[in-house]
Amino acid sequence: MATRSASFEALILRSKEVPSGARVATLLSADDGVVEAFVFGGGKSKLRSLASPWHYGRAWIYRDAAKGLVKLTDFDPEREFAAVRGSLEAIAAASFASELMLATSALGGDWPDALELTAAALAAFDEAAASGERGLLGRALSLFVLRALDAMGLGPDSGECRSCAGAMGGDAIHSYSRRSGGFVCARCAGREPDAIPLPQGAVAWLGAAARRPFAEAVRVGLADEAARALKACALDLAEKAAETPLRTLKSGLL
Ligand SMILES: [Zn+2]
Repeated sequence: MATRSASFEALILRSKEVPSGARVATLLSADDGVVEAFVFGGGKSKLRSLASPWHYGRAWIYRDAAKGLVKLTDFDPEREFAAVRGSLEAIAAASFASELMLATSALGGDWPDALELTAAALAAFDEAAASGERGLLGRALSLFVLRALDAMGLGPDSGECRSCAGAMGGDAIHSYSRRSGGFVCARCAGREPDAIPLPQGAVAWLGAAARRPFAEAVRVGLADEAARALKACALDLAEKAAETPLRTLKSGLL
């Protein structure tokens, strides 16, 4: 069949103007992965505003294989994460989440988890923006990256030193190695001047967060110094997983 229509749950990752003046929305869906679709209509069109970045809802898609055309015909946003758009830091975090999903082809094909994780991160960014709680945004950002890496099998091993392969209990993790993208023991960290020391609180937080669903895990408190170390480690891991510098990390807002 040359043409068909479909409808599915999706999150709008991005919406951008193409040279022809039309707009292309990039959707993340559990069933079809990343889908790029034309959104026709002028700047004030209702569909354009319904299909704004980070809206989550039901999308209706029309595909014409003969013309190579994928068109978004309707979008019903169930969750708009409206507070995100009112905070530069939350916009930066949400843009980063979108870019990481695109750079990893939605976690390498694990689409349902990619959709669920990104929506959970956006809910936390939204809550942080609405309440002004900066710590929540940072924890959500770090947890989003670490869960994304775990889903791709790229999460750092907390059981052994990446450098010397010596066994480490959770309390023996000393630093994060930018060079190897893993956790290292005190002895190996001493040989790497740019390793990021991980305070004990950061290591304890990782353990506590791992046992909880995302929405609960981001509420586990974390001291400022530990939160900064964990975020630096998460953002470095994100660039390694993406295998390319991430544009959204250049803003300096995260
Ligand atoms: Zn070591």
